[in-house]
Amino acid sequence: MHKLSLRTVGDVLFHFPRRYEDRRNLPPLKNLRAGEFATIRGVIDRVETRPTRGGKVLLKASVTDGTGYCTLVWFNQPWIAKRLQNAENEVIAYGMVRANDMRLEMHSPELEMLDEEEDAEAFARIVPVYGLTEGIPQWLVRKAAASAIEYFLDAVEEPLPKLFREEQDLTGLRWSLRQIHQPETMEEQKKARRRLVFEEFFYLQLVAQMRRLQAKREVGIKFDPAATADPTGLFGDQRQRGIWEEIHSMLPFELTGAQKRVIGEIMADMERPHPMNRLVQGDVGSGKTAVAACAMLLAVRNGYQAAMMAPTEILADQHYINLHRLFDPLGISVQLLSGKLPAQKKRKALQQAESGEARIVVGTHALVQDGVKFQRLGLAVIDEQHRFGVLQRAALRAKGEVQPDVLVMTATPIPRTLTMAVYGDLDLSVIDELPPGRTPVKTHWRRAHEREKVYDGVEKLLAEGRQAYFVCPMIAESDKMQTQAAEDLFYRLSNQVFPNRRVGLLHGQMKATEKEDVMLKFRAHELDILVSTVVIEVGVDVPNASVMVIEDANRFGLAQLHQLRGRVGRGQHQSYCILVGEPTKEESEERLRIMTETTDGFRIAEADLRLRGPGEIAGTKQSGNLDFKIADLIQDSILLEQARGAALHLLERDPELEHPDHSRIATRIREIRRESALATIS
Ligand code: ADP
Ligand code: MG
Repeated sequence: MHKLSLRTVGDVLFHFPRRYEDRRNLPPLKNLRAGEFATIRGVIDRVETRPTRGGKVLLKASVTDGTGYCTLVWFNQPWIAKRLQNAENEVIAYGMVRANDMRLEMHSPELEMLDEEEDAEAFARIVPVYGLTEGIPQWLVRKAAASAIEYFLDAVEEPLPKLFREEQDLTGLRWSLRQIHQPETMEEQKKARRRLVFEEFFYLQLVAQMRRLQAKREVGIKFDPAATADPTGLFGDQRQRGIWEEIHSMLPFELTGAQKRVIGEIMADMERPHPMNRLVQGDVGSGKTAVAACAMLLAVRNGYQAAMMAPTEILADQHYINLHRLFDPLGISVQLLSGKLPAQKKRKALQQAESGEARIVVGTHALVQDGVKFQRLGLAVIDEQHRFGVLQRAALRAKGEVQPDVLVMTATPIPRTLTMAVYGDLDLSVIDELPPGRTPVKTHWRRAHEREKVYDGVEKLLAEGRQAYFVCPMIAESDKMQTQAAEDLFYRLSNQVFPNRRVGLLHGQMKATEKEDVMLKFRAHELDILVSTVVIEVGVDVPNASVMVIEDANRFGLAQLHQLRGRVGRGQHQSYCILVGEPTKEESEERLRIMTETTDGFRIAEADLRLRGPGEIAGTKQSGNLDFKIADLIQDSILLEQARGAALHLLERDPELEHPDHSRIATRIREIRRESALATIS
């Protein structure tokens, strides 16, 4: 059982069934239909094995119950043949029913021999089906669970107080465990599941909220919003300028209402003498950089340094250019620190960060490496957090003497439930408004044979003075092939399709300086077209670019498409996103369809969660706390909200969980902390 990580009776009790089979009345085989999952019961009629041309073994076993037949098929699993040939009693098989000529088949079904299950009477009920691993039969786990229920359930202690359960409408733990393993009806199973899902969410939310509330009590920096540009007082007339006024003169545009609100929330945090841990979520193009710049200004004006960490070199470059442009007129020095910097420049950047000459340091993850020291770090901004792990957040934080304030910004829209689960320990600000004057990007899906028309359309826009991005097909196999694809597209567009246009190329294998050079040219409109791999995915900002053509768009994920589309629609011109693709799967067609239907990042995120599942979206780095035993972020989002509310409510009344009624909850929380500490180390 260790193979399934089942080491104690408790483990077995909490190893929940993956699904159930209602064997109270299985349909006769003659009623079987192709195209649906079904459980069948019958005796083995005939077993035959046959070598295939590829040197493998094809195994077919026919099952009958007297009313009809179904053939079970396995490829290259000859050992199953032996089991089947010896089967004297009935078997149970579960799988997708397929039609092959006039016969019905199940390919690689789940199989159970009824003689293995000693308790034949137990047959006609709802039977739990557990997740297994190789070499462990279903009946063994089933039996272990049944014994655990029978002999040990009484030893299970209820951690949730009765009153609390009544408030939250939750069933008792013992009852729930019995019903989840051996449901009398599926209604009971649902109630039991609800309780267990709630509990799982509840502990995680408690851990996250306790961490969040505790951080609020730690010693941090108290920034003063009235700090002046001139602490020496030599230029007396500047003294009265508050931070808002200086922001106003620093930015070339008027902030949106949402930006102002979020900056206000950030500043309120920064004014408190405790560390800030805030997540800013805003759709692509909502102006997160400006928001971060304002927070950085406040830190600098208080005599601290600010650091900003971006996930790619290109993005770090770009932030550097933008921030430099904003801060240079104020006499605030901004430095770039990235891994690909030439040694000499890097040394200079490191030295300036340490001496304090650099007030703002922008960089990639190079920022969190060992040799990097700051004179007085007061604020750490982490852009596009989903690419970084929680550990990097902590590493950057550790660069300050006193805990610096931390601002995390994420552009890939994440559904609310996922935000709660992954970033539950952060305070949340949402920029839910785009800067004015933007017309939503028009998105079209075109088939491959319509390319010529797409090119004509692009040419028209170029003639009007706009610029265009072309993103080449994504090739997962290797960087080299990806580069090749970009070069091919570049060659075709610059020589054949747009011979009179200035075309540039950007791909991941270019040197940092070459990339920078191309980006500068495109930004300065010395190029009309930029052919690129997905390296431009995040953050690049060229307002005059008004059309984005994505080749083989069906190969991209939704979040990626949305990010890419976010590169256009940043200026006053009507912008277009053209998805060229011949989707072969229903799911990829669905993605393209959603893209043409909405530009709302949060709606796209919901769809993404539905299509891909939570682990994929959060990225492996922090999906640790998404490994739920029974909860499901998509299906159970309402329960997650409820659990979060309950956790907050409980902590209001008993912040340290000291009340005797909460002692079991507190124990469970300590266990979870220990587990996650171990997981972080390993
Ligand atoms: P993102 O949230 O995707 O990081 P950026 O910060 O890159 O967005 O901003 C996108 C563009 O919008 C930039 O060109 C920026 O200068 C511009 N911008 C940001 N805020 C405003 C505003 N309030 N009014 C006008 N333009 C703005
Ligand atoms: Mg950004």
